Amino acid sequence: MTARLTQNPSINLMTDSSFDVLIAGGGVIGLTTGILLAEGGLRVAIFDQSLMGTESSWAGAGILSPPQCGPEANELDQLRSHSVRGLASFSAELDHLTGINNGFSICGGLIIPDANENHEKWPTEWKKNGIAFVKPDYPHAFLAKYGLATFNSEVYWLPEKGQIRNPWHMRALLARLNQLGVRLFEKTEVLDWGLCSNGQIRSFITAAGEFHSSWFILCAGSWSGELARKLGVNVPVTPVKGQIILYQGQVGMLPGIIEQGKRYLVPRSDGRILCGSTEEYSGFDKTCNPESVSQLHEWAATIAPILKNCPIEQKWTGLRPGSRDNAPYLCFIPNQKQAILASGHFRSGLQLSWGSADLISREILQKKKPINLKAFSLDRPCGALMGMFKN
Ligand SMILES: Cc1cc2nc3c(=O)[nH]c(=O)nc-3n(C[C@H](O)[C@H](O)[C@H](O)COP(=O)(O)OP(=O)(O)OC[C@H]3O[C@@H](n4cnc5c(N)ncnc54)[C@H](O)[C@@H]3O)c2cc1C
Repeated sequence: MTARLTQNPSINLMTDSSFDVLIAGGGVIGLTTGILLAEGGLRVAIFDQSLMGTESSWAGAGILSPPQCGPEANELDQLRSHSVRGLASFSAELDHLTGINNGFSICGGLIIPDANENHEKWPTEWKKNGIAFVKPDYPHAFLAKYGLATFNSEVYWLPEKGQIRNPWHMRALLARLNQLGVRLFEKTEVLDWGLCSNGQIRSFITAAGEFHSSWFILCAGSWSGELARKLGVNVPVTPVKGQIILYQGQVGMLPGIIEQGKRYLVPRSDGRILCGSTEEYSGFDKTCNPESVSQLHEWAATIAPILKNCPIEQKWTGLRPGSRDNAPYLCFIPNQKQAILASGHFRSGLQLSWGSADLISREILQKKKPINLKAFSLDRPCGALMGMFKN
């Protein structure tokens, strides 16, 4: 056993393989988990069928909801809070260690209720859950101050809403993984699982060969169900396409993030403004739908008229890994003792990434976990994990 492994003498590790943990999927979940495990002294390899961090984790908006601490917070709320708090210090640490700023900032967010939303109960819920908010007495004046349309009678300002800049975060994660010596196998699809005679997983089978290990993590985002099926396991994760458009805006154009229902505007620090998003169930198709683009643009211009003639610099889509109840699965793969599933983060994978990685790595490193994984099992009752925020 190597010196590094003596840090965790109780862990059951094979001595004849070069890796302790193999990870299928190099999105934000796989990359963050790889860092925490490597920092815990394990030898880790990550496989991605494409380039690392270029799927949903690159495409998302990176909105972070405020942490909440109310007595009614369920495990998903707890995970979100644990994760967003952790992400703050993790981001600072990544910046310090790699010199790459991932754009983490608490920029505040304006919520404009949708016509069909029962927003009158929100202030009571937020108060109960320790979420800071301001309800401007003169919403028209508040909106007009920022050049926003003033047809909405009620708005709420959540000062603790934050954001992270996805591509920058991916870059920082990859730099840290390289520092830690984690092996990154890009364009190396995990094709199948190698099994022992007792049915336990013993390897990844890839085009680059067979890789053995004692622990395995399946975090292949929208593709997790495909890979699980090869084990005969049903993982109900479905791709949900989301459309984004990027405006070439200017710094200070918006007061902060603006959300209305499932749509949002996210101002970046360099003046760019990201507008999203749609929820489209069209399999693995990632083409931009011109109708979705023009609907988003129309909505953006209704909220912030200045965007009507603002140049669109870029547009793209991403595939969110949707689960049955839009909450992640963080659990052992059925019938496996050393293989973990971490997928189905839907609209919240960026903000849940550090917390998910923390729970999984604690499971493998045999450390006490702040939240019980049981709540995130594949067979939890549907609706048990309704979250307070959409993103
Ligand atoms: C438009 C949009 C907006 C979003 N906005 C937000 C937001 O504001 N806040 C937030 O928190 N979240 C947001 N999300 C959600 C978030 O991006 C996802 O939940 C998160 O990125 C999921 O991460 P992941 O690592 O599970 O999946 P992915 O990033 O998709 O990574 C999975 C990886 O697995 C690889 N893979 C698949 N199959 C295999 C295989 N067989 N072998 C090897 N590799 C494989 C893929 O190539 C991919 O790189 C948004 C998503 C989208 C699309």
